[in-house]
Amino acid sequence: MTLLTVENYIDGAYAPAASGGWLTCEDPYAAAPWGRMPRSGPEDVDRAVAAARRAFTAGPWARMTAPQRGAQLHRIAEAIAAHAEELARIESRDNGKTYREMLGQLKRVPEWYRFYGGLCDKINGAVLPTEKPEMMNYTRYEPLGVIGMITPWNSPLMLLSWKLAPALAAGNVAVVKPSEYTSASALRFAEILTEEAGLPAGVLNVVTGLGAEAGAALTAHPDVAKVAFTGGIGGGRAAYMAAAANLRPASLELGGKSPNIIFADADLEQAARGVVSGIFGSGGQSCVAGSRALVHRSVHDALVARMAELTGKIRLGDPMEDSTDIGPVANRAQYDRIMTCIGWAKEDGATCVTGGAALADPKGGAALFVAPTIFTGVAPKDRIAQEEVFGPVLAVLPFDTEEEAIAIANDSAFGLGAGIWTRDVARVHRVAARIEAGTIWVNSYKGGSHISPFGGYKQSGIGREGGIEMIHDYLQVKSIWLNLAEEAPYPFPL
Ligand code: NAD
Repeated sequence: MTLLTVENYIDGAYAPAASGGWLTCEDPYAAAPWGRMPRSGPEDVDRAVAAARRAFTAGPWARMTAPQRGAQLHRIAEAIAAHAEELARIESRDNGKTYREMLGQLKRVPEWYRFYGGLCDKINGAVLPTEKPEMMNYTRYEPLGVIGMITPWNSPLMLLSWKLAPALAAGNVAVVKPSEYTSASALRFAEILTEEAGLPAGVLNVVTGLGAEAGAALTAHPDVAKVAFTGGIGGGRAAYMAAAANLRPASLELGGKSPNIIFADADLEQAARGVVSGIFGSGGQSCVAGSRALVHRSVHDALVARMAELTGKIRLGDPMEDSTDIGPVANRAQYDRIMTCIGWAKEDGATCVTGGAALADPKGGAALFVAPTIFTGVAPKDRIAQEEVFGPVLAVLPFDTEEEAIAIANDSAFGLGAGIWTRDVARVHRVAARIEAGTIWVNSYKGGSHISPFGGYKQSGIGREGGIEMIHDYLQVKSIWLNLAEEAPYPFPL
C-alpha cells in the first residue's frame, strides 16, 4: 500500500524533518498504517519558533489592528466551518472515535474563534488615578509572543482551538506539537487557516513528532513565552518543569477520575443514562469521563442492573458508520493500559458485572476493541478507583451518607469534573460547593461552552480554558508613566 506523506507546516509551507526521520500514521479501525509524518527534533522546533518570532515582531500580523485581528478570527471560523467534514474524517481515521463525535466537535470549534474574535477590540488598558498629579499612568495589554501548544489525540482540533483562539485573539503566535497519534488534522488545519483564511505565514506552525523529542524541545525552547499543554500527568509534569526552567508560565489540562454521585432520591432512569453515556461515550477516551459512580446503597442494585442493561445496547464497530456508538481503542499503548486496569480491578476483588474483556474486531480484522465494562464492589482506595483508565471502564462504589459520598468523591488526586444526581435542591448546592472539581454537572453529565471556564482542581490541571477572563492568560500588562510637569523629577539639589 502506498503511504501518504504529511509534513511539518512552518512559515506557511510544508517541510520534512531536518533529520529526515519519519513516524507512521496509523488507522486504528483498519489496524494499518495510512501515512507517515516527520519525526521532528530540536532543529525543526527551532525553525518553527524562529518563524513564529518573525511573524510576531514584523510583518502583517504584528501590524494588525485589534479590529482587523477580530475579523481575521471570524474568517478562520468560516474556513473551519467549511472544512468541518473533511477535518472530522481525518480525526476519526487517526483516533478511531466516531465520525459523528468528531464532526460534532468540529462544528462547535468555529464558536471559539467567533467568541474570542469578538473580544479582540474589547481588551483595553486604562488611565489610572494614581496619587501623583504630575504623572499620567496608563496600562497596555500586550501579547506574550510564541505560545508552545502541546495537544493529545482524543479531541485534537477542539483542544487545540481552546488554546489557539484566545492566543490569537490576544495577538500571539503559535507553534503546535500535536499528538504523535493524530498529527494529520493539525497540519491540514494550519494549511486551511493560512492559505484559505488568510492567517499570515508563521503565525501558526505545526511540528510533528514524539513527546520526548519534539514536545520536549518545544516546551524547553527559550523563545517560547508560554506553554499550553493538554494531556496526561507524566507529559504535563515534564512540560511544566521545562517551562519553569525558563521561568515561563504554563497552563495544564490533565486527566481525571471524575465521580457521578447518585443519591437515593434521584430519577434513576435519567441517572443510569447519564452515567452510562458519561463513561462510555467516546469509549471512555475523554478527560471528563465519569469513571466512578458513587451510588447510594438503597438504589445500588437497581441502578447497576439498569446500567448493565443500557451498556449491553452499545454498538461497537466502524467509526465512520452512523450506527456505531464506539469505535476501536485509539492505539496499542492505550489498549494495553485499559487491559492492565481491568486486570487490577479483578485482582483487587471487584465484581465484573458486564464486559471485562477485549472483543474481537467485528469485521474480522486486527482492530482493538474493549467491551464497555462495569465493576462493582470497588473500594475507594482500589487502583481502579484511583487511576485514570482513559477507556470504557466504570467503577461503582456504594455509600450510605452524603458526608461519605463527598469524602469518596474527593479521595482522588484528580479534580476535573463531577456529576450530582438528586431532586433535593438544597443538597445540590451543598454538595456542589464541597466537591473538589473544576466543573460540576447537576442531573446531567458532560457538556460545556466556550463562554464558560473549564479546567481542573488538584492534579487535573493548572489554569482554565474558555470564558472571557482566560484571555488574560495570553496577555501581559505594561504600566506606562508619563511626566506632565515641565521639569523631570530630580531628587538631588542643583
Ligand atoms: P499524553 O500526555 O501521552 O500526550 C499528550 C501530548 O503531550 C502529546 O502531544 C505528547 O506527544 C506530548 N508529550 C508527552 N510527553 C511529553 C514531554 N515529555 N514533553 C512535552 N510533550 C510531551 O496524553 P494523551 O495520551 O495524548 O492524552 C490522554 C490524556 O490527556 C489523558 O490523561 C486525558 O485525561 C488528558 N486530557 C485532558 C484534557 C483536559 O482538558 N483536561 C482533555 C483531553 C485529554
